[in-house]
Amino acid sequence: MKTKTLKKDKVNIVTLGCSKNLVDSEVMLTQLRGNKIDATHESKKDDANIVIINTCGFIDNAKQESIDTILRYVDAKHEGLVEKVYVSGCLSQRYRDDLQNEIPDVDAWFGTMELPLLLKKFKADYKKELLGERITTTNQHYAYLKISEGCDRPCSFCAIPLMRGKHVSKPIEQVISEAQSLVKNGTKEILLIAQDSTYYGLDLYKKRNLAELLDRLSDVDGLEWIRLHYAFPTGFPEDVLDIMAAKPNICNYLDIPLQHASDHMLKLMRRGTTREKTEALLEQMRTRVPGIAIRTTLIAGHPKETEADFQEMVDFVKQNKFERLGIFTYSHEENTHSYSFEDDVPEETKQERANAVMEVQEEISMSINEKKIGKTFKVLIDRMESGNFIGRTEHDSPEVDNEVIISSDDSYLRVGDFANIKITEATAFDLYGEPIRN
Ligand code: SF4
Repeated sequence: MKTKTLKKDKVNIVTLGCSKNLVDSEVMLTQLRGNKIDATHESKKDDANIVIINTCGFIDNAKQESIDTILRYVDAKHEGLVEKVYVSGCLSQRYRDDLQNEIPDVDAWFGTMELPLLLKKFKADYKKELLGERITTTNQHYAYLKISEGCDRPCSFCAIPLMRGKHVSKPIEQVISEAQSLVKNGTKEILLIAQDSTYYGLDLYKKRNLAELLDRLSDVDGLEWIRLHYAFPTGFPEDVLDIMAAKPNICNYLDIPLQHASDHMLKLMRRGTTREKTEALLEQMRTRVPGIAIRTTLIAGHPKETEADFQEMVDFVKQNKFERLGIFTYSHEENTHSYSFEDDVPEETKQERANAVMEVQEEISMSINEKKIGKTFKVLIDRMESGNFIGRTEHDSPEVDNEVIISSDDSYLRVGDFANIKITEATAFDLYGEPIRN
């Protein structure tokens, strides 16, 4: 690798983990540039002399990826390619004391709520006037909007409250002005994110206020799609379903991680619900929002999970036919309640169970997608790739769900535009289609 002259104070922010971490990096980028500091995000040019790694500390794989990234930049520092390496985010919040000893060549460690401290390293101040303004790093036409921070839920396997603290809702006015500023900068689709979006307002307004927030957001001029992520089943505010059904610019899409289906496991995982209540809620969703696409996430191999528990999960997936589904293998996380149990399901069995669920889901997804052949959908064009336009329907979130592949021969399409696409072919996890000229 060629040695290079180090350009004074050019910052490159590297983000790991989830969309909530990405929003934090975008706020960091906005504040650095707001202080006239030359900062980029995930720069390919490798010409920065300062690197900030915004880490993830959620589960084993994610933690390992964060540590590998830190070590890579520490090596670059030893080779004189970068001058300073700063680490922020969840891994730093959770393991700062240990990591400081284990990786002493990192120049400074910051927690998840310590941006003002990080800015001090650049003799910069946190600019309150930039609150609600954000330089986004996603494609211009869609953006994540975090409506709250932290989580008050007791889920036994989850370390997020250890890293993100208690639930704090963002005031409605602030969310609305942030949405307006994003739309002004070209955003057409906003993805609402939180640790638990359905808890919104309980702290601030002493009531679940997500429905009112959605209602107000749907009145933002130019906002074409509003997508709801990270709902929680217990105490689900069902008035959200009526707003979703009533407002055409709220996607008929809901991401609601359910984690398991057997009552034995739901109790152990401290989810505060049962299979019966969960299925009643799913029924409500499908009745009150016809055509809704439901995404869920499950965990395979939590301690004490029996073969019977696992078979119940498979049966649940078969019964409820989720449009979108992901599954993780259980990760034994220190200082979580589940850490007090023995991690008694072998890694191999965890993976076998996760694979088996995805095989069932592949069949379900194939049959759902086949029914879309011949139908026309409003598609948001995300990008061009190997001569095709790639887009999504309102039933698909970026990076995690299905995509629509459209040959680019018909060149009148543009990235960032909506187009009506007639589906001509389907696979388990993608659709193929052609534009319908109006
Ligand atoms: S809702 Fe449960 S799983 Fe989600 S962040 Fe909170 S504690 Fe973790």
